[in-house]
Amino acid sequence: MHLHTESRRQRVAILGGGIPGLAAAYFLQQHGYDPVVFESERRGAAPCLEHEGFQVEKFAQCVTPRDQHLLSLLGELNLNGTMRWEQAHFGCLRAGRQYNLSSGPGWVRSTALFAAGRLRTDWASWLLGRRDDADYLNHVPVEPFLRAQFGERIFEKLWRPLLQAHFGDLYSRIPAEWFRGRLREGWFGESAKRGHLRGGSRELLEGLVSAVTLRGGVIRNNAWVQWILNEPHGVCLNVEGRTERFDAAVSTLALQRLREIAAGPLQEQVPMPQLVYQGLVSAVVITRQQIQRKFWNALDDSSIPFQVMTESTNLTPREWTRGRSVIHLSRYCRPASDLFMREDEEISSYALGGLREMFPGFDPRVVEACHVVREEYSRPVWPLGGVPSVQPSQVGTTRVYLCTDVQAYPHDRTWDTAIGQAKATAGELARSLAAMPKMRELAAAV
Ligand SMILES: Cc1cc2nc3c(=O)[nH]c(=O)nc-3n(C[C@H](O)[C@H](O)[C@H](O)COP(=O)(O)OP(=O)(O)OC[C@H]3O[C@@H](n4cnc5c(N)ncnc54)[C@H](O)[C@@H]3O)c2cc1C
Repeated sequence: MHLHTESRRQRVAILGGGIPGLAAAYFLQQHGYDPVVFESERRGAAPCLEHEGFQVEKFAQCVTPRDQHLLSLLGELNLNGTMRWEQAHFGCLRAGRQYNLSSGPGWVRSTALFAAGRLRTDWASWLLGRRDDADYLNHVPVEPFLRAQFGERIFEKLWRPLLQAHFGDLYSRIPAEWFRGRLREGWFGESAKRGHLRGGSRELLEGLVSAVTLRGGVIRNNAWVQWILNEPHGVCLNVEGRTERFDAAVSTLALQRLREIAAGPLQEQVPMPQLVYQGLVSAVVITRQQIQRKFWNALDDSSIPFQVMTESTNLTPREWTRGRSVIHLSRYCRPASDLFMREDEEISSYALGGLREMFPGFDPRVVEACHVVREEYSRPVWPLGGVPSVQPSQVGTTRVYLCTDVQAYPHDRTWDTAIGQAKATAGELARSLAAMPKMRELAAAV
């Protein structure tokens, strides 16, 4: 047997051409790999809609000053000049009234609570934020824990609507540790600065595409990966009926989706088979008038089938959207649920009816468009026990690596955590692949 020593850059397939996939390609190039990105959407990942010449996010997005991975990548891509920062205000809409959730100093201020309730909220939040028993909090379901720590009234008025806004009706058994993480990040605290990129996620995607292709990376759109198989010395992918081999692969897909396309023993090795995902339905309403002044509202009203409302244009200059307001009304729900499967027209009429109910002065004639968007695997419902460390990103001893939403736990998946994970996964892949023989060398040796 004779090993060729011909030096060849190793090729890595990346499943998914959204921000995590393109960021993984970008960082893999820094380690000397040739990435090939496979994206199923016809013209590349499509997080935006177009309306009258401006981009509208399908799901309301913003950036926080803590998003250091994102901010440093924007710097490398020369994009941070297009970021605009504003003070964001949060609220809760209940029975025709809007309550403040971020009106004063301290962890949480809510005019929905009595003064005594506010004090208790601040005090219990401060204590919880200082606890250092993640193992214990990972095994305690959030609902009974918060009822005990804050009392029934504060839970019902404050935390339940906020939890529902994040997990739909599956909030009650997520680990208290997730909640503690949000408090530590200053959930609805006083310094709620939020940033927006002028061109939104489209701008970030395009910046990454240019950087990756400039250095010889390949991005294939309209390329649905039908199955993926781990082989002894590489990875085999079936893309639109054609098989191709790579030295390794990085998957940015939700674990459940990866499991669906994993062939052979790989399927069993994809971690967390019991993990449940929430889907998301969102009505994106574009109007000629501002509806209200807050950026984000929890909706605590069972007569409206949505649990969150954002008006992202309250944080951006009017000229960015040519004077239009962009409102997202959303609900996390299972893909098999009644709401998820309703016709677009019905969901649009719920959205406009809901706006009329919440804001009696709302005039439907100011509406220019209402789009309905759905996402099947929108958010993992964190299981009790938390997420067993999915580190290393490598799936078992295979050549498949993960850059997924679960690796962000106890944080939520954001652009920032996706970029941080893409960097970590690229580094890990480089270290472990360096210890493995190259696919072509082995083929030549046989
Ligand atoms: C309601 C909502 C609000 C959010 N708010 C914020 C926020 O305020 N700030 C923030 O930073 N982040 C926010 N996020 C998260 C942010 O949108 C995501 O982190 C980011 O878009 C990355 O998305 P993703 O991880 O789902 O991967 P995606 O970007 O969705 O990447 C996966 C890609 O894989 C493709 N694909 C799927 N299957 C296949 C296949 N078999 N073959 C090939 N390609 C395939 C898909 O088309 C998709 O483009 C929010 C998300 C939601 C849903």
